Amino acid sequence: MSVRVRIAPSPTGDPHVGTAYIALFNLIFARHFKGKFILRIEDTDQSRSRPEYEKSIFEALRWCQIHWDEGPDIGGPYGPYRQSERTEIYRKHAYELLERGRAYKCFATAEELMEMREVAAKQGKRVGYDRRYRHLSPDEVRARERAGQPFVIRLKVPLTGECVFEDQIKGRIASPWADIDDQVLLKSDGFPTYHLANVVDDFLMKITHVIRGDEWMSSTPKHILLYESFGWTPPVFMHMPLLLGKEGKKLSKRKNPTSIFYFRDSGYLPEALVNFLTLMGYSMPAEKEIYTLDELIREFDPKRIGISGAFFDIQKLNWVNQKKIIDSIPEDKLWKRLVDWKFNETFMCKLMPLIHTRIKTFSEFMQLCDFFFISDMKFTPELLCPKQTSPELVSCILQAIIWNLDELEDWSGKGLEQASHNASERFGVHHKKVIIPILFSAVMGKSMGPPLFDSVTLLGKDTTRVRFMNAIETLGGISNKRMDLLKKGWEKKDCRELIPTTH
Ligand code: GLU
Repeated sequence: MSVRVRIAPSPTGDPHVGTAYIALFNLIFARHFKGKFILRIEDTDQSRSRPEYEKSIFEALRWCQIHWDEGPDIGGPYGPYRQSERTEIYRKHAYELLERGRAYKCFATAEELMEMREVAAKQGKRVGYDRRYRHLSPDEVRARERAGQPFVIRLKVPLTGECVFEDQIKGRIASPWADIDDQVLLKSDGFPTYHLANVVDDFLMKITHVIRGDEWMSSTPKHILLYESFGWTPPVFMHMPLLLGKEGKKLSKRKNPTSIFYFRDSGYLPEALVNFLTLMGYSMPAEKEIYTLDELIREFDPKRIGISGAFFDIQKLNWVNQKKIIDSIPEDKLWKRLVDWKFNETFMCKLMPLIHTRIKTFSEFMQLCDFFFISDMKFTPELLCPKQTSPELVSCILQAIIWNLDELEDWSGKGLEQASHNASERFGVHHKKVIIPILFSAVMGKSMGPPLFDSVTLLGKDTTRVRFMNAIETLGGISNKRMDLLKKGWEKKDCRELIPTTH
């Protein structure tokens, strides 16, 4: 049987380095064992999935030199490869499980579910749903359906015993069934949950090995039960160690740069990011740290995949990047790579209107525009805090602006303009005298420069986000307590009581 592996990203956010990391191990596995690597888009979460995020997943993976053999954009023998185009398949399979007596219709209302969760929490139970519709008689089910009561389809999870499986990286895993809820498979709107769609697709797409991040480990017992309930043989499961952020927790965009585009725009080489990401989950013999993807594919041995999470250490990435510049780009090709990065016609033509009337001589160009080309901004609290503001206030304002830009789903200059006015209102501070100077400093590292909002559009969402986060960190960060207060204030659209606006 030939190897078939897949990645199944959800297009719900910016392309995450974690997606590239998992994609790389799937790609390496497929190429080493002469199998196929599939890209499937899991867009069943209708409220969060966006076509533009799907496009950026393609663009980001291609920039990383990760190419797939089958996928929504190139087709293949087991398509469609986008879950929103396969809803009928999932519905059919959910009903098949009903017929097999392995699933049931549950008519619980939102209020009922809330009540059940409260009761369970009080009793210290891990399972929130009390299975009250699991044993309805066929007549009762029919009567409720005739009365037009909405329902979901749930999986019948065993009440006792444990699920035992062999993870090819982690070894034997056992988890008690009693800790697992009767999982919803089909929602009342007819859309599948992740679990149903994922298992049905992996089976129909003939996936032999599921290589995914550790965070999915807790879903695996449900998936194994689904395979068994359909009468199918499960694939081999391999759960990769997580990428960890500075705080030792799963790498998250709230605390770390995570978008692949951030690394591209900050001048990292794709071959360096790839080398670094594989290094996070794998160790070459003799501790070799610099290698090419082809080398790794040739020498790959799944036994050398790590077990525990690895720190996403930017210093290390910088080191790998420098090695790659020295080893793989000859002097006479370096300028070409820089041109490809940002010193090109396309980028410069966008930049020129911003500086046209702002330079007396060409020699002022670099100084005026340095922040477009620098990623390691040297912020100081003095720079970031306009007169009569405190570091606490400024960091809360920047954090609130990050949230607002995410809410608006618009990180362009236009979005920032709106967010800046919102911040001025909600914090009760002067827009021109307080908010604008803060933003100039956090974006450009100086108090004056080209037009702020146009500059942010050109700088891009990922760099802007990281710059704001770094500015907050320079100001000493935001304590958990203050963060909670800030959240409350922001939701109430009034943050004035949060911290004194002057000191
Ligand atoms: N849709 C899941 C994700 O976003 C897929 C997890 C899996 O590989 O099963 O990563």
